[in-house]
Amino acid sequence: MIKSPSTIFLSKSALQINLAFIKSQLGEDVTISSVVKGNAYGHGIKQFVKIAEECGIRHFSVFSADEAYEVLHIRKHNSEIMIMGVLENDDLEWAISNDIQFFVFEPDRMVNAINAAKRLGKKARIHIEVETGLNRTGFNQEGLKAAIKFLKENRDHFVLEGACTHYAGAESVANHVRVQKQIKWFNKFYKLLVTNDLTPRIRHTACSAAAMTYPKTRMDMVRIGILQYGYWPSRETFIDYLGKTKNPDKSDPLKRVISWRSAVMSIKSVALGEFIGYGTSFLAQQDMRIATVPVGYAQGYSRSLSNIGRALVNNVRVGVIGVVNMNMMILDVTEAEAKKGDEVILIGGDNGLEISVASFGELSSQLNYELLTRLPDRIPRIIKE
Ligand SMILES: *Cc1c(COP(=O)(O)O)cnc(C)c1O
Repeated sequence: MIKSPSTIFLSKSALQINLAFIKSQLGEDVTISSVVKGNAYGHGIKQFVKIAEECGIRHFSVFSADEAYEVLHIRKHNSEIMIMGVLENDDLEWAISNDIQFFVFEPDRMVNAINAAKRLGKKARIHIEVETGLNRTGFNQEGLKAAIKFLKENRDHFVLEGACTHYAGAESVANHVRVQKQIKWFNKFYKLLVTNDLTPRIRHTACSAAAMTYPKTRMDMVRIGILQYGYWPSRETFIDYLGKTKNPDKSDPLKRVISWRSAVMSIKSVALGEFIGYGTSFLAQQDMRIATVPVGYAQGYSRSLSNIGRALVNNVRVGVIGVVNMNMMILDVTEAEAKKGDEVILIGGDNGLEISVASFGELSSQLNYELLTRLPDRIPRIIKE
């Protein structure tokens, strides 16, 4: 078999540890919906859904119908599938016939879903999303009143699976007041549904950050993305957890599920005073040994990691030097005694040393989400126990 320039490994035991930790925080009565949008945050939706089901997950959240289609054909345990975002009217019949649940956040989808359900003679399984302050999708108060009227007239054609909303930045203390307000609004909308005899089966509002920081947001189910993959939504969320935990061990309870590995393609020596790579962004200030690695921005290794990124070679933390090219990067291996073919760990690690995505950009927690989801589908994913 022809070898690809890099490989992604998924650790099932890491996922098991993360899910056990999350459950220990939530208690027994809260369901975890595993969020697998963005190709399971770059982990590979096919491989990830498989190991998540093996670890006991029975509910998946996706963004779009095509992702729902993938989960539908991979799942082995009849897990529930919920679309939080885009679902074209033309695909509503497909979704309803396959028992795929979906958010309803505007009149057009609501009316079309009910019509599709009537044509099929099968109930649509809907989650009413309400607008509580993110100002993205969801019914506001007026809209919800109109929706309630319409739903009451069409009772026989849907199952009200859930009522839900999404918070505007629960990973940052700066948004505390806004999140509290959103919780209040959500509870108000929920009461409005209940008093109109439209009691949803479950309520769910929390993403990873909200579930960890604001226990009130957990309700019946939480939609957990980043945390299950072994990353904190932000440094603040981690510190908030450390402040509250009774566990005397203050180390990170999460384990990274992903590791991304390549190998040294070539080694050379460069003399003091030479520029390395395109342009003049790196000047050798000593005689150096450098290694080229066949991974660049075409493989999802961001150009913004030029002169900043870190990797592990022979258990030594080494730096990316010069600009990241389309298909290559250069590492400073002066201290690493590297030779051609040696393993290069771009994300992950062994023996206690680790390259976390976060270490690339402590300033921006968003980098975790972005770097992971940009890992191309083309890189092979291999599951390890
Ligand atoms: C992405 C997403 C989540 C999960 O967010 P994490 O921060 O990764 O836990 C939850 N709910 C909605 C609506 C989302 O779009």
